[in-house]
Amino acid sequence: MNAQKLSKRLETVASFVPTGAVVADIGSDHAYLPCYLVHNGIVAKAIAGEVVKGPFESALKQVKLEGMEEQITVRLADGLKAVEKRDGVDTITIAGMGGPLIVSILEKDPEALNSVTRLILQPNIHARVIREWAMKNHWAVLDEMILKEDEKIYEILVLQRGEMELSEQEILLGKHLMANKSEVFVEKWSKEIENWKRILTSIERADATSDIDKKREEVTHLIKLVEEAL
Ligand code: SAM
Repeated sequence: MNAQKLSKRLETVASFVPTGAVVADIGSDHAYLPCYLVHNGIVAKAIAGEVVKGPFESALKQVKLEGMEEQITVRLADGLKAVEKRDGVDTITIAGMGGPLIVSILEKDPEALNSVTRLILQPNIHARVIREWAMKNHWAVLDEMILKEDEKIYEILVLQRGEMELSEQEILLGKHLMANKSEVFVEKWSKEIENWKRILTSIERADATSDIDKKREEVTHLIKLVEEAL
């Protein structure tokens, strides 16, 4: 992967960036995504934010290598602190982290989202937490994708301002993904069911306690929710 040839995962994230957007990519590592967006004329201006010094320096180096210092500002900052009011950022991408970390970044500096109209989020795990956050914070899912790359399955959520009501099943699985029921979607959730069934089997062998009973109920409920959707 490099700034010209992204991974399928980041290329899909990029495909949801509107032409002419002002983007902040939070947790930008090598700044591949902002460089790709500028290189392909999708955006003219971007921010690459990184909280760790090593990846921040890699991002700086990459932007310099591409000769994109005029278009891409790299900032060493925690989460949305990389976004300044004067930037006029309207689109934020956060990819390659867990859903809970993505949500904690969004919750920490909510004022940085004032000018933002689109969030493109790619949680490696627990996308559910993002859907819950979106529903409570006046964001609606515009689109969702699920894809497989190098034997790993990724979900991408595209949010815009708005209200939505999701059922428990839709929060877990994604309304759009449920409607499409792609091969990758079925694979992901079939594996989860297998996993939960293994947990149930191991619980059967454990001594009955209220915690064990609670866990059994939880897991049985999840299996039922997902089986109904497949
Ligand atoms: N976004 C790239 C991608 O999807 O390929 C890099 C993903 S990498 C696994 C996650 C990056 O997010 C790391 O470089 C990490 O330092 C950075 N990160 C984690 N928490 C962060 C935060 N609060 N603010 C900014 N960057 C963060």
